[in-house]
Amino acid sequence: MLAAPTHAPTQPPISDRHRLRPAQLDMPPRLLLGPGPSNAHPRVLQALGMRQVGHLDPCFIALMNEVQELLRYGWQTDNTLTIPVSGTGSAAMEATLANLVEPGDRVLIGINGYFGHRLTDMAQRYGAEVRAIHKPWGETFSLAELRTALETHRPAILALVHAETSTGARQPLEGVGDLCREFDCLLLADTVTSLGGVPLFLDAWGVDAAYSGSQKALSCPPGIAPFTLGDRAIAKLNRRQSPVPNWYLDMSLVGRYWGSDRTYHHTAPINMNYALREALMLVAEEGLDARWQRHQTVAELLWDGLEALGLRCHVAREFRLPTLTTVLIPDGIDGKAVARTLLNDYNIEIGGGLGELAGRVWRIGLMGFNSRPETVLTLLKALETVLPRFR
Ligand code: PLP
Repeated sequence: MLAAPTHAPTQPPISDRHRLRPAQLDMPPRLLLGPGPSNAHPRVLQALGMRQVGHLDPCFIALMNEVQELLRYGWQTDNTLTIPVSGTGSAAMEATLANLVEPGDRVLIGINGYFGHRLTDMAQRYGAEVRAIHKPWGETFSLAELRTALETHRPAILALVHAETSTGARQPLEGVGDLCREFDCLLLADTVTSLGGVPLFLDAWGVDAAYSGSQKALSCPPGIAPFTLGDRAIAKLNRRQSPVPNWYLDMSLVGRYWGSDRTYHHTAPINMNYALREALMLVAEEGLDARWQRHQTVAELLWDGLEALGLRCHVAREFRLPTLTTVLIPDGIDGKAVARTLLNDYNIEIGGGLGELAGRVWRIGLMGFNSRPETVLTLLKALETVLPRFR
């Protein structure tokens, strides 16, 4: 017979105050056409459910190598330090700044939308002396403007958002890397809404540090975030006088787990790595050229359809992102009410504007798995039905 537990008389009574008995999980079948997340590809969801192995298992280590190599393909880079950060896009964003910024470093940030402000906030927290250049939301910086700014500010790092999800504008990066080398400065690029959907050539464009997210054009759930550093960035990391002030994101430690040592740092999110591998496999199977072309063709179908409904896009066509379109809300229409109706009556999610564009635009994402003609037709049909009710 088992002896009674000796601690029983002193154990406090268990409270059932928070003991919910929720119903079986059952989420509605939303079509996610907002700024992200996009719907995950069915194959990615299936991979997510694969049985686990340990995070130091030889099978998992083989998978880690595949993820790194597939990320290099997606980004068109040979960077050795190319890994997924355990966390969302903001974690990978923070990883670039935590590793590259030393207190007092001058960081020049192009602010033409919401995420330039987030970069500024983070860089300041790591002790950077931030200098900012501004453009109205929806516009981009020209090479001449960037040259003038580099001459004026002489930063150690220039940070630009390649695909501004808050505005739908694509910041051209061609030539910026050469400019940065002329001024002995690193180029850091946010590619959260471009990786896997918009042409991107990190090495050819001389991008020294970049990060992305999983839940946009890669069509994987949020929770794992691509990150890469090139040789010049690694040299800066190695020259640091002070330790990276963020233990979790310190690439001199995390890099050992993903590099040749394979030493434990933190427990990798095993199943999110399965999912990301599948998402990146889909990119490789389709081929970047075909994938970028698909995103462009499908976006143009949306833009033409919106025009036919009497709607206008916010960003000039030349700089419009195929992955994220900002649509001007016509005068007199309650944009939030339209979005609410699309969600409640049609299971379609679109986004509203942020910051300067709050209340002025809808944001429509056509990313990864959702970048298909039938998705566009579904949304246009719903808009055609809903809009007259609000005019
Ligand atoms: N940068 C850009 C351009 C983004 O669009 C986002 C998210 O929408 C982020 C960074 C931050 O990513 P996350 O929300 O996954 O942390």
